[in-house]
Amino acid sequence: MRTAARGGYHRGVTAHGNLNREDDLRAAICAAGRRLGARGLIAAGEGNLSIRLGDGTLLTTPTGRRKDELEPDDLAIVPLDPEAGPAPRGPRPSSDIAIHRAIYRARQDVIAIAHAHLPASMALTLAGEIPDPAALPETAHFIPRLPYVPFGVMGSEELAGRIAAAFSPPDLPLPGAVLLERHGAVAVGGPATAPSGAPDSAALIAALTQAVDRLELVDVLCRVWRDALLIRSARGVRPG
Ligand SMILES: [Zn+2]
Repeated sequence: MRTAARGGYHRGVTAHGNLNREDDLRAAICAAGRRLGARGLIAAGEGNLSIRLGDGTLLTTPTGRRKDELEPDDLAIVPLDPEAGPAPRGPRPSSDIAIHRAIYRARQDVIAIAHAHLPASMALTLAGEIPDPAALPETAHFIPRLPYVPFGVMGSEELAGRIAAAFSPPDLPLPGAVLLERHGAVAVGGPATAPSGAPDSAALIAALTQAVDRLELVDVLCRVWRDALLIRSARGVRPG
């Protein structure tokens, strides 16, 4: 049974009579984690999810936990800018939080981020293969641009900076996802342009869903690309 005090954040009904907005967002992140787990896209403590809150903070998944078994109280709130604060609340966030912060700083339109160590993408990049999203109608439409970021030390500012740069090229379209060498993929969600005011819960949850959708499409592309390579290879060695 939950109590208002558990988890260190306020629950209940706001002055406007709506359910606590943060509760909705926490539930959405937990549901997104379960979705990634159900599709076999995360293992052990890999992967992370976040939503940009309107007050200069991020709601995000904790480090060292399975992301498909999280409860709403398990999430962390961290400042977008650690120097500016406010102080973090809840458990320690993922070491990949530097990636999330760098992308949010580089892309004002991004309000949700999903990252997972997609197994098929790691197999392809380990083998030196980079799939082309133009190969499939779905990925050509929804993630027409999929930049590739060479390997970097996980959790480092250096890697975070290169990923953020890949997400913010000088020309359009802006990428919805980025492929990482042996480190899965990162996908983002948000409106087509930077929101003029603070997005409501529905917009934030829709953006999170969009980020997870894009991550799944990268996975589909990688699995199809891998299978096509294997089929072609098998044909090449088949007698006759
Ligand atoms: Zn990672």
